[in-house]
Amino acid sequence: MQVYADNAATTKMSKTAINAMLPYMESIYGNPSSLHSVGQQAKEALEAAREKMAAILGCEPREIYFTSGGSEADNQAILSAARTGARKGKKHIITTAFEHHAVLHTLKKLEREGFEVTYLDVRTNHNITAQQVQDALRPDTCLVTVMYANNEIGSILPIAEIGAICRASGVPFHTDAVQAVGHVPINVHEQQIDMLSLSAHKFHGPKGVGALYCRRGLLLSSLIEGGAQERGKRAGTENVPGIVSMAAALQESADHMEENAKKVSAMRDRLIAGLSQIPHSALNGDPVHRLPGNVSFCFEGIEGESLLLLLDAKGVCASSGSACTSGSLDPSHVLLAIGRVHDVAHGSLRLSLSEYNTEEEIDHILCAVPEVVRYLRNMSPVWRDLQTGKREYIL
Ligand SMILES: *Cc1c(COP(=O)(O)O)cnc(C)c1O
Repeated sequence: MQVYADNAATTKMSKTAINAMLPYMESIYGNPSSLHSVGQQAKEALEAAREKMAAILGCEPREIYFTSGGSEADNQAILSAARTGARKGKKHIITTAFEHHAVLHTLKKLEREGFEVTYLDVRTNHNITAQQVQDALRPDTCLVTVMYANNEIGSILPIAEIGAICRASGVPFHTDAVQAVGHVPINVHEQQIDMLSLSAHKFHGPKGVGALYCRRGLLLSSLIEGGAQERGKRAGTENVPGIVSMAAALQESADHMEENAKKVSAMRDRLIAGLSQIPHSALNGDPVHRLPGNVSFCFEGIEGESLLLLLDAKGVCASSGSACTSGSLDPSHVLLAIGRVHDVAHGSLRLSLSEYNTEEEIDHILCAVPEVVRYLRNMSPVWRDLQTGKREYIL
């Protein structure tokens, strides 16, 4: 049995998303900037996709800028707000300690340029409170960038409350909503979000395409110079097949959001209940405010990498954290940020589900994981030391 449980890294494309893009590769392949009919048909499809996405997100079509994905949208949002802030002498930014690297590395770059960044503590409940944002605000704060939902541990942050605080203080609010869009209800207007990043491949759309919502009136600067595409904010011939497909995938996710969330969260809860039975284990992430598909655990006395390889041999595709951390020996910055010590953070497992998973697959995972954990612990010198009392259990 092959079980794909790594949907936070990427998802399979839906049939709807695949079919939506085909005409724009086969026949309507024009450049939207061309004046002839094939170009204009592509242009119409591009604008229809923009309208569809704007309607789902609760904004105006002209507030949507298509990008190459979530990372680009994060970079553009943060660098734009920083540039605007710097012009007014405001060089303080608020974020959380467990953001995606697309946000954290952009902020590190700004720190080297003289910006000051406050990283909100996420150890309590593996989440933040809106009050923490309120308390961190300063007269020179030019941006609050707080993710909607965490990609490794699944916590969903209090976005509407943070939006209200930022709006009342006149500070621009960006959210990396890559894990949330298509999975939980979002309305940028109601939640008072000023900028939002999304990526198609996290909701069964294609890779290499995403969008930045930027509220009208906020200054957006471009990362890429060239033609006047995307109202001069993002040069380069538009990825029409990708964009049309992304809009179709988002529409499909929005149409089935409630039923999918119900199905997926029931499977998630069964996994959490089952894996909690493993001794010396701990759930990572907010147990209540949690993405429907996220299951994240630390198991004491094992190595996450070996766990993944053995699970793969049993047909289970999982992750030890984010796709970006796997392959490196450093434990995940997210697990360290929530207070897991190095040894414990090394023994992590993330299973991320989608509506394409089945109850039989959950049964298979519930057999495979405890078996592999037991096997690895039996071979582990660290586990022997824990059992003989030479070392103390942390979990
Ligand atoms: C996947 C992901 C990104 C990066 O999106 P890409 O489209 O792969 O560049 C950014 N933030 C979060 C939270 C993600 O999960």
